[in-house]
Amino acid sequence: MSNNREKLIEVKNVKQYFKVGGGVVKAIDDVTFDIYKGETFGLVGESGSGKSTTGRTIIRLYDATAGEVLFDGENVHGKKSKADLKKFNRKMQMIFQDPYASLNPRMTVADIIAEGIDIHGLAKNKEDRMRRVYELLETVGLNREHASRYPHEFSGGQRQRIGIARALAVEPEFIIADEPISALDVSIQAQVVNLLKKLQKEKGLTYLFIAHDLSMVKYISDRIGVMYHGKIVELATSEELYEHPIHPYTKSLLSAIPLPDPDYERNRKRIVYDPSQHNYGGEEPVMREIRPGHFVLCSEAEYKRYKELYQ
Ligand code: ADP
Ligand code: MG
Repeated sequence: MSNNREKLIEVKNVKQYFKVGGGVVKAIDDVTFDIYKGETFGLVGESGSGKSTTGRTIIRLYDATAGEVLFDGENVHGKKSKADLKKFNRKMQMIFQDPYASLNPRMTVADIIAEGIDIHGLAKNKEDRMRRVYELLETVGLNREHASRYPHEFSGGQRQRIGIARALAVEPEFIIADEPISALDVSIQAQVVNLLKKLQKEKGLTYLFIAHDLSMVKYISDRIGVMYHGKIVELATSEELYEHPIHPYTKSLLSAIPLPDPDYERNRKRIVYDPSQHNYGGEEPVMREIRPGHFVLCSEAEYKRYKELYQ
């Protein structure tokens, strides 16, 4: 983990409510966390828990219903000049789950990768533009022959590499990777994770890494936030979360991870999370620190019990 404890991203009491039909979907409901410079923050939770909405709100695809997001101390929402917006667009990039859907099938790989270079006027001339494209292709483990081809000519893993090259093209500081490996074969998943790790080291990148299960995030994340129904229910370093899970939802996610150990598998019991077990009454649960740097969403009574059990 980065020893540098400077905050790059501060998500403060963010709510994102969507009006759907006559009702309201609380996609994010009062979420607060920081991402430190150079670290990978993993965001984990089942489908529909609000992970993508959190990413999209940080990157300003949505205006927050409430709360604020700071990038390097600056509020990314609210009134912004065109120049400010362009600056943020360059600093924050996104990598998506389905690289095929996010790559324009009618554009060559070179044009896909160079799109941001063109928008931000980063290349001095045509030669410089192509030089950058070739360099980016090599950086992500592809080669210059790939530049003139189209997305359908590539495998899933290669397409994800193109998506990564496109994100890197504008020299961002922060990348949101929204389930970047969920659609890939297990053997390819590790390659993409390793590539992301290598790039982080070389370029000092900061990541928000989104996943729906806890199996891979452990290896890439410094800290992890577990999301359930629009809220973060537990937040700790990756190691701490695996060694000392506290919230019952986190325990259920951990119990779902298969391990290549027959003894373990024979005895592995899936824990089913039952939210009614909390019995909050009228009390609004809040994030409380149970162990150093380890926060759990809990009521006053649960806090006392967790402290006794886990401190
Ligand atoms: P995740 O990425 O964890 O699967 P999402 O952030 O995509 O979850 O969605 C969280 C909730 O918000 C879901 O109930 C989803 O249907 C809803 N939602 C997401 N985006 C929108 C939108 N643009 N309009 C209405 N509802 C949305
Ligand atoms: Mg999602």
